[in-house]
Amino acid sequence: MTLKSKTALVTGSTSGIGLAIARGFAREGADVVINGFGKREDIEKARAGIESEFGVRAHHSDADMTRPEQIAAMVRDAEERFGSVDVLVNNAGIQFVSAIEEFPAEKWEQIIAINLSSAFYAMQAAIPGMKRREWGRIINTASAHSLVASPYKSAYVAAKHGIAGLSKSAALELAPHKVTVNCISPGYVWTPLVEAQIPDTMKARGLTKEQVIDDVLLKAQPTKEFVTVDQVAALAVFLCSDAASQITGANLSMDGGWTAQ
Ligand code: NAD
Repeated sequence: MTLKSKTALVTGSTSGIGLAIARGFAREGADVVINGFGKREDIEKARAGIESEFGVRAHHSDADMTRPEQIAAMVRDAEERFGSVDVLVNNAGIQFVSAIEEFPAEKWEQIIAINLSSAFYAMQAAIPGMKRREWGRIINTASAHSLVASPYKSAYVAAKHGIAGLSKSAALELAPHKVTVNCISPGYVWTPLVEAQIPDTMKARGLTKEQVIDDVLLKAQPTKEFVTVDQVAALAVFLCSDAASQITGANLSMDGGWTAQ
């Protein structure tokens, strides 16, 4: 168990990739703080399931990643509750699909806040404790869209390119402190986020659901398979191991060959 007596905080972990990562850390013995929105009973089921399946403590924070003061309070609360935040995964993210000239300004602001600025504020709050303890792992869920673009996803692509740069800068600042900072950049992972953008893509491009899946989503992915949330979680767990202590400032693709093209 690589994470025994450590605490991991994963933003946006009430579903999809974040929940799989939180469960992956709990399997390795970490206490976990999950975060995000959803139905009360679903969140409680996920939280209690982590405790009972893995024998660790799990807490849910409903901090809103558009609110810097709530982000700082979430990190402070985790440190007080479990003693430290040793692993921080900035994973919360949303998508919006539209041509630039019709892109609603509030959606632009929201995506930049949740997908990029929240990582900055969470890191700002968690780094002092990591430096003090001379150990830390910061993992940012970026995307293939941190390396290449697609049309109609301007805010998302801008935020994901931004988080890739933020991660490199943080990696250099923290290199002397045994704190690593890396991005995981998945291609298309089958989660509610991907499922929810299908109707908008159908509308924006005038396609059927099957065409969006085959000709837009998996078109980019030479393996013609979706990445699974458990595969992303396994990479996050590896990044927390001693074997990964020299991996820092990296942007690790898991995209079925998408960005090799
Ligand atoms: P998801 O919709 O399943 O999960 C998103 C999570 O973020 C949920 O827990 C949600 O409650 C939370 N969230 C949304 N707004 C929030 C806010 N304001 N404050 C706090 N939490 C908030 O999506 P997912 O596919 O698991 O995506 C997770 C991350 O992975 C995102 O950063 C996404 O960009 C990235 N990603 C996803 C894919 C994919 O294909 N699914 C590919 C590459 C990168």
